[in-house]
Amino acid sequence: MNDFGIIGVAPTINVALQTGPRQLELTKLPRPRIDRAGGAIVRIEACGMCGSDIEQYSGHHSYAAFPYVPGHEPVGVIDEISAESALKWGVKVGDRVAIEPVLSCGHCEHCKTGHKLLCEDTSVLGLTSTSVEPGILGAYAEYMYLPKDTIVHRIAPHVAPSTAVLFNPLGAGIRWGVTETDLAIGETIVILGCGQRGIAATIAAKAAGAGKIIVTDVERAHNKLETALAIGADHIVVADRQDVIAEVGRLTGGRMADVVLDVTAATQPLADAIDLVRRGGRIVIGGVKGADKSIPLFMDRLTLRSVTLKGVFSVDTRAYRQALNMIEAGNARASAFSTQAFPLAATEEAIHRLAGWDGKTPAIHVMIDPWA
Ligand SMILES: [Zn+2]
Ligand SMILES: [Zn+2]
Repeated sequence: MNDFGIIGVAPTINVALQTGPRQLELTKLPRPRIDRAGGAIVRIEACGMCGSDIEQYSGHHSYAAFPYVPGHEPVGVIDEISAESALKWGVKVGDRVAIEPVLSCGHCEHCKTGHKLLCEDTSVLGLTSTSVEPGILGAYAEYMYLPKDTIVHRIAPHVAPSTAVLFNPLGAGIRWGVTETDLAIGETIVILGCGQRGIAATIAAKAAGAGKIIVTDVERAHNKLETALAIGADHIVVADRQDVIAEVGRLTGGRMADVVLDVTAATQPLADAIDLVRRGGRIVIGGVKGADKSIPLFMDRLTLRSVTLKGVFSVDTRAYRQALNMIEAGNARASAFSTQAFPLAATEEAIHRLAGWDGKTPAIHVMIDPWA
């Protein structure tokens, strides 16, 4: 008899395993066991992919020890759950859930005061080595393990998986574009960057009653800018063809924007942002730039004009819940994301599609369907 007792053979699960930079292979891993660890096993229905996946694949997330199963934006159905987690999470086998990727310690100063995204002792699903028991802590897999401290949100069964996975980008759009900018009804927002986060912020800003929404991106992302216009942006600016500051000046009658949200990976948009806001305006940076990137900053442009500059990491529980409410009510504008689904075996292809490395127009949003 082996470790798995009377079963004899451990059931295996198909996963996409990242073994090094740009090394992603389809393989099988033993199904995690929850008997001692608690938590739950979820059958993955779909996992969304974002810019972080591109960074991870390229090997720029040095804090993730190889090998690991990527995939941090999952939606799935509870397949097995410990009694303790069922009680604590309020879910049972068969319930459909959207899963928050960031797990915080729950005990530090920040966690105890309700700021769990400030926790310095976090772990992230989709960025945790398979050597961490009981394995499969990412969602590019048929099933994954959810540790005891995971936060899950029930999501109604009527929502299509390709719409349900939008809880993650939409949550970011809501938190970065509306909550953290403190966007008020009638205000003008400039959204720098029109990827899935820029589109999501456009949807959120529209829903929150923005007066004027101006979205920028480069010529290559023309499909995305057109999508932004179709879902409620009032103006688009093509950043590599037009002078963004002059255009925003013209479109606002010289007043400039109340708030600017930067969701790009570049540095120039942030340098521009300081000149894009009005006196007393707010700038929120939601796009990760890379640890080695910096900009020269004319500090008096901030100080003398009382401009607020704020960095925001990830999405909080409130914004995820708001995103799920929009999704369940049919207000997510899901078609704007033009989600392209890929099977597990084509995970690398999906990353290339999202990054535009295949020479085609980059996809706005892609997802993995491990059962396709
Ligand atoms: Zn993501
Ligand atoms: Zn903590």
